Amino acid sequence: MTREAVTVGDVDVPAVGLGTWRLRGDDCRRAVETALELGYRHVDTAQAYDNERQVGTAIEGSSVDREDVFLTTKLDGGNRSREAVHRSVDRSLDRLDTDYLDLLLIHWPNGRPPFSPVRLPGATPLSETLAAMADLVADGRVRRIGVSNVGVRGLDEARSLSDVPIFANQVGFNPYLERRNLLSYCRRHDVLLTAYSPLCHGGVLDDEVLAAVGRTYGKTAAQVAIRWVVQHEGVRAIPKATGRDHLRANLDVFDFELTEAEMERIRRPSKLRALAAAARSRLSG
Ligand code: NAP
Repeated sequence: MTREAVTVGDVDVPAVGLGTWRLRGDDCRRAVETALELGYRHVDTAQAYDNERQVGTAIEGSSVDREDVFLTTKLDGGNRSREAVHRSVDRSLDRLDTDYLDLLLIHWPNGRPPFSPVRLPGATPLSETLAAMADLVADGRVRRIGVSNVGVRGLDEARSLSDVPIFANQVGFNPYLERRNLLSYCRRHDVLLTAYSPLCHGGVLDDEVLAAVGRTYGKTAAQVAIRWVVQHEGVRAIPKATGRDHLRANLDVFDFELTEAEMERIRRPSKLRALAAAARSRLSG
């Protein structure tokens, strides 16, 4: 079984895409160019990443048709009113050098700054943001919409308020952070779960269990982690990588299959491990 794409509704979403957080300038352009050349057909960016222009330049300059790339961007925190959604997406389209997005996500729960559980007073109602996104679907600027960084409650709220289907929820998902309840909700309601930080920001790279499993298949710890993520039904992964070797390795995860026992052995939910990896990543970034 390879599962190189996850089919949701009418579209095949490549199971491994390229994450671009912290890729900037020429590094970003080169990484996206290389990724497309190696066979990636799924790229994740965000208004907040300050790299949409480089992503767009790379796609436009490649030999791959725009129609063959599944391109996602995300609304920045300040762009939640109807007017700001419309205006900011037009700017994203301009920077990305395209006339449509495959997927537009709300980056964080409305009115909530990253990592804060508190909803700010006076924040734009979620219903207004979702209605503005639906306008964009209606006029073809956006093909699908979704959310990010929400659990079952947030996803349920978005689904109940949206006139167009919530196609995806993008959340952290890796061997230290397996969201079983959220995943089963997503499967029940046909929502794709996009796994960000599948390598736990690099925190899984020296994981002994992943390395040991990998030796059986001639794969690295990183490859085993990505395989583990995409082997979950209805999940795709968007590892970030900069150079050709990492980019190539992360796509080379479809010629082996983890056994059920290995899947269980690899999953070790641990907030401590996830937090330590996040902290290391913040220090190095
Ligand atoms: P990640 O993909 O879990 O890990 C990236 C790190 O792993 C980088 O340091 C990278 O190094 C390294 N790496 C990649 N492939 C490797 C390989 N084969 N061998 C060894 N090291 C490897 O981290 P992430 O950037 O946090 O998450 C991925 C993407 O998810 C982001 O870029 C972004 O698109 C998305 N994301 C979304 C949200 C959200 O709020 N929606 C939050 C976080 C992330 P090099 O760069 O040197 O290759």
